[in-house]
Amino acid sequence: KLHNTILELKGNIRVFCRVRPLLPAGSACAVAQIQYPTSGDLKGRGIELQVATVQSQQPQTYDFAFDRVFGCAAKQEEVFEEISQLVQSALDGYKVCIFAYGQTGSGKTHTLVGMLGSADERGMIPRAMDQVFVEAKALESQGWNFEMRASMLEIYNEEIRDLLGKGPPASKKHQVSHDDKGNTSVAFLESVDVRRPGKVGELLAKAMKQRAVGATAANAHSSRSHMVFQLTIAATNAATGQQATGTLNLIDLAGSERLSKSQASGERLKETQNINKSLSALGDVIMALAGKEPHVPYRNSKLTYLLQPCLGGDAKTLMFVNVAPEAEAAQESLCSLRFAAKVN
Ligand code: ADP
Ligand code: MG
Repeated sequence: KLHNTILELKGNIRVFCRVRPLLPAGSACAVAQIQYPTSGDLKGRGIELQVATVQSQQPQTYDFAFDRVFGCAAKQEEVFEEISQLVQSALDGYKVCIFAYGQTGSGKTHTLVGMLGSADERGMIPRAMDQVFVEAKALESQGWNFEMRASMLEIYNEEIRDLLGKGPPASKKHQVSHDDKGNTSVAFLESVDVRRPGKVGELLAKAMKQRAVGATAANAHSSRSHMVFQLTIAATNAATGQQATGTLNLIDLAGSERLSKSQASGERLKETQNINKSLSALGDVIMALAGKEPHVPYRNSKLTYLLQPCLGGDAKTLMFVNVAPEAEAAQESLCSLRFAAKVN
């Protein structure tokens, strides 16, 4: 299969780009300003963005190449095809992280969660769970037994909030700790047995509702927090004595948009500073890993500290950069593509 070869091609870090289609409401003011090479080496990997500036009539053109580029016509199923190998890796005992990066409205949540009730529009998390169940079932006949637990949390202003459980008792925190075997524990975090098909759908619906709490009109909370879905798969084979524990992390990052100066005060300013800090800390960690640098700065943000055992070593990392196609979004799209190109 093609996706095997793409994933085998280079190290453990890959970057995919996905452009969302025009939304019905935005169609009227949009101009065609994203193009893809249709032949040659960069087919399926290249993206060209045109950005018009106030000073010049002539738009500037920027070219990028990633491991894979999905145009606005790409279906959820097609995107999932390309990541299913990573889901398999988690079953095989690897630690895997898949991030969605981009400005608010660029399609991150659609890519990871999608529309839960729709067979076509379901996103990566429910599809990954389906695959895990099917593969696990097939392996049971060979003596394998699987324990699967999921947790969901968000990181808002560098604080963890449980999206499934009721949170820590008063005056306690969701403290993160790692043991020397690479296992992470988050104090008081709910983890749920998800071996029943359909369970994850229920959990996701609950978590998405939880995440929306705290949203105000001016400030959609969900776009200001990182959401982490973590599935731990412990496989044991009583017949052979083999054991493997894999982890699949799917992370819906906070919106990467910069804040206009007029908005930058008070609580909003603090939020933005925390988002900027944690997104650049993530970029720094991935760049350090890609460059095989001896020091990887995991401790600069809650997110990178939480995911430390799942980033680096033989863990596998995939970053989606989600891009909106509208002309008004071009500046932010350029920033996102530049960030992604840096970690690629
Ligand atoms: P983000 O999570 O980055 O803020 P969303 O995933 O919420 O963005 O997407 C913004 C809107 O665009 C939503 O209404 C979503 O349903 C829609 N959307 C995003 N990507 C797609 C896509 N590939 N196909 C159809 N609709 C999409
Ligand atoms: Mg979202």
